[in-house]
Amino acid sequence: MALAATDTTKATSPFSVFEALTGEYEEVVFFHDPATELRAIVAIHSTTLGPALGGTRFYPFGSEEEAVRDVLRLARGMTYKAAAAGLDLGGGKAVIIGDPKRIKSEELLRAYGRFIETLGGRYVTAEDIGTDRDDMDMIRRETRYVTGVSPELGGSGDPSPVTAYGVLLGMHACAEEAWGEHSLAGRRVAVQGVGKVGYHLVKHLVDEGAKVIVSDVDVDNLARAVREFGVETADPGAIHAVECDVFAPCALGGVINDQTIPELKCRVVAGSANNQLLAPRHGETLAQLGVVYAPDYVINAGGLINVADELQGYNEDRARARVQHVYRTLREIFRVAKEQDVSTAQAADHYAERRIGRIGRVRLYWVPGGRGWARIWARQ
Ligand code: NAD
Repeated sequence: MALAATDTTKATSPFSVFEALTGEYEEVVFFHDPATELRAIVAIHSTTLGPALGGTRFYPFGSEEEAVRDVLRLARGMTYKAAAAGLDLGGGKAVIIGDPKRIKSEELLRAYGRFIETLGGRYVTAEDIGTDRDDMDMIRRETRYVTGVSPELGGSGDPSPVTAYGVLLGMHACAEEAWGEHSLAGRRVAVQGVGKVGYHLVKHLVDEGAKVIVSDVDVDNLARAVREFGVETADPGAIHAVECDVFAPCALGGVINDQTIPELKCRVVAGSANNQLLAPRHGETLAQLGVVYAPDYVINAGGLINVADELQGYNEDRARARVQHVYRTLREIFRVAKEQDVSTAQAADHYAERRIGRIGRVRLYWVPGGRGWARIWARQ
């Protein structure tokens, strides 16, 4: 899912926004409010399946080029994630350039909210690095097009428990693929990172009778998991190399790489972390080694499914029921990977692209008083 033009433009010529778009983005909007120091970029990659939902990353990017590249890459990723999750949503993302600790303020967030409102619902925002629920509540004062707000405002709360539940369901699909057995009882599962998602995942696994080994660089989080679940621990530098059935990356990106792959002693890689493969080719290496890899954006979609439910008036039971989709999608991706003799990572991309192609064709509605013919998530 890397942007094809990214590396070439960087190496040979000055950065060009238009070249970075590679002809595949619907809209990229820049917004500047000098009074509040707000400099924001919204990238709408696709609204073929519905409004482009994706978080706002508030971060002190080293340059405007870095911010543009990041927002484009992340927006494209959201299109695939939403499509594979079976949602009627497209893909988009936003960045605010600057150090949130220094410049985040009520007026900046409200100016940003007004900016989101001008996009008329084609982009819907949510939390990401550097933004939290309180920020979404503030943005909500200026626009309806925001999710991840407080439960008092109709929000869905912390998505981590739902993400963890989705990862557990995804692991069941992996277990069926690897061993022909649904249950994880008796399986050794090595969990890297017992933060918000990892903690809830370990609880599910222990309840199911799995033998869990955990690692974390945060001693408090590690101690909590040991105290509450009585699990074994491993050194953070060695958790990927532990003898186990399932390795579950729930901390950092890029953990599946040239150094770690030869050291893996698992049959399945399935966890919540984003961008687990350092490069797409690492997905192919895992496939060649016979390791069942659950593509990250498919298995960790529970949080997105949960937050997307807010668009219909949040209902926890409905959101949890929809997370079952993670299991079914992974089963289908494993089938497609075998049928087409491709890696599961490639099969996931094909699955998402096919759904966008097939469903996108039938979702063209007229929005009265809106922006003309538009593809949206429901009739208004
Ligand atoms: P978190 O920050 O609460 O937890 C991450 C944990 O990993 C922390 O306890 C941290 O100390 C630990 N960690 C960091 N470096 C480590 C290392 N080298 N070895 C072992 N542990 C290490 O984050 P989270 O919300 O639990 O998310 C975990 C991952 O899942 C992230 O990659 C995140 O992007 C992804 N994700 C989260 C959600 C969600 O709903 N929270 C949804 C989709 C994807």
